[in-house]
Amino acid sequence: MIVGKKSRVLKINNPEIVCVNCKKNNTITLRILGDYGHLFQIPFISKGKRGESKCSHCNQVLPHQEMNNDLKLAYFELKENVKIPIWFFAGLITIKILVIYKIIFINN
Ligand SMILES: [Zn+2]
Repeated sequence: MIVGKKSRVLKINNPEIVCVNCKKNNTITLRILGDYGHLFQIPFISKGKRGESKCSHCNQVLPHQEMNNDLKLAYFELKENVKIPIWFFAGLITIKILVIYKIIFINN
């Protein structure tokens, strides 16, 4: 595939939250994922962050859109502290450098 989308886990946390499904405490793992578009397997541009939770007891997985308020709050707090890695933009940065190089060294 020439162009596609991939994701990478950016941060993992274990908030002290009761699972809505099985009512167990401290079984939730919250993951922040970053999506990026790639071109020839080279990360090109960030497609933003998203989150999902997983319960280690009942194995329920929830995307952040389906989280309850407690979980959503923990998700937003965690998400705020996660930066999108610069290498998500590797392709875009390379092109910008090439354009600048061309303007300075070739177009005169
Ligand atoms: Zn559970």
